[in-house]
Amino acid sequence: TSAQIGVTGLAVMGSNLARNFARNGYTVAVHNRTAARTHALVEEHGHEGDFIAAETAKDFVQALERPRRLVVMVKAGGPTDAVIEEFAPLLEPGDMIIDGGNAHFADTRRREAALREQGILFVGAGISGGEEGALNGPSIMPGGPAESYDSLGPMLEKISAKAADGAPCVTHVGPDGAGHFVKMVHNGIEYADMQLIGEAYQLLRDVAGYSPAQIAEIFRTWNTGRLDSYLIEITAEVLAHVDAATGKPFVDVVVDQAEQKGTGRWTVQIALDLGVPVSGIAEAVFARSLSGHAALRDASRSLAGPKATPLSAAEAGAFADRVEQALYASKIVSYTQGFHEIDAARAEYDWDIDLGKVASIWRGGCIIRAAFLDRIRAAYDARPDLPSLLSDETFAQEIAAAQEDWREVLVAATRQGVPTPGFAAALAYYDALRAERLPAALTQGQRDFFGAHTYRRVDREGSFHTLWGGDRSEVEG
Ligand code: NDP
Repeated sequence: TSAQIGVTGLAVMGSNLARNFARNGYTVAVHNRTAARTHALVEEHGHEGDFIAAETAKDFVQALERPRRLVVMVKAGGPTDAVIEEFAPLLEPGDMIIDGGNAHFADTRRREAALREQGILFVGAGISGGEEGALNGPSIMPGGPAESYDSLGPMLEKISAKAADGAPCVTHVGPDGAGHFVKMVHNGIEYADMQLIGEAYQLLRDVAGYSPAQIAEIFRTWNTGRLDSYLIEITAEVLAHVDAATGKPFVDVVVDQAEQKGTGRWTVQIALDLGVPVSGIAEAVFARSLSGHAALRDASRSLAGPKATPLSAAEAGAFADRVEQALYASKIVSYTQGFHEIDAARAEYDWDIDLGKVASIWRGGCIIRAAFLDRIRAAYDARPDLPSLLSDETFAQEIAAAQEDWREVLVAATRQGVPTPGFAAALAYYDALRAERLPAALTQGQRDFFGAHTYRRVDREGSFHTLWGGDRSEVEG
């Protein structure tokens, strides 16, 4: 017998993905640089389906039916290149390498182009959902040549998560690096969601005076409404958890320094290159960085702050409702920014990405899965050329209804000295987009003053320069 799919790289993600394929009835060839892992997998989970254990790269390739479908689940970066270099010479035209790791999309573009020369179809596939998702159904974002999806797609659809309407959470996202790009932005949005939730928690605690257990209850209630999502659900779990050793709320015994692996940072770096304002995601990445500067924070604890005046119990309940509005409005803005970045990449790299489809495959399996994503899907389905999510009538109306509370929450946060960079950046973005006139006119005037960079006028075509050092008359630039 031969295997319909092979997985190499059998750490937690690769093992679980291989088991997911096997549980769905596929014969799976498994391979790992260190063969002990391969044998351990088959020994522990062999009863779950049909596995073919391969010790060598050659055995692994020979175990696969043609065209071969070889999934690589190793550490992103150098290791992925090493594995590709090892396997590519053993493959034939029409075979497929699927990189399920968290590759940078530029690496995926480079690898796809190189392997295309050899007739090998290279599919950079973003996979989200962590180890649990890999086993029971992740959200999968494959890019690469469209023809790869003909035979790979049905298999991925089988092992992927399913949305509430039964649709598989996978689609062919677009050519070369499009899948990994979309996975990157997914992670950037995840950072922003987590930051906004963190700010909501901090406000409920420091301004409203609620305990972590009470805040867990508030999040549980929110999770039954429009904020219904995996991240809100686990927030309630984490906040309700009590540390066994001390009896204190778990959240109070964890060091308040958040780490990051890099996909959020990439999202911001690429956004800077594309000129897309993703201020909410950027603030989320910076907030994690700031939290890690322990010495700087120690040196700053004595800085002056406002006199805090906690709310009364009666006021606290109403404030919690306002925080929900602020969180929801800010969330709409982060998704608006994330989808703008995907849209900009679509233009820059000539990728045919269906934004409604992207929202659709994030509805299940991945970390940002949420009821909300079905609304985004509906918005893009109704108007594929939507200039921005904020142009969607329903979202615009919801923000209109939320904005007074959103502003009140930021007033309270500012008065009490609670940092809310995510909420504030989102509101600033919203107000900037709404603005009739921006101070960019002044900026452009300054640029013309010191650098003769010229400006355009509101009333005439052309470009102009004022002779600032002379008689200040205007000339055509
Ligand atoms: P790791 O990222 O920890 O990678 C370990 C695997 O890589 C092992 O199988 C290891 O083999 C192999 N490996 C490392 N270097 C080489 C090399 N030079 N040549 C061959 N094989 C090598 O494993 P994870 O399962 O955590 O993640 C796999 C991929 O999935 C990564 O790209 C990760 O970013 C991505 N990912 C992870 C998620 C998660 O929740 N963990 C979620 C989504 C994506 P050996 O056993 O021989 O050391």
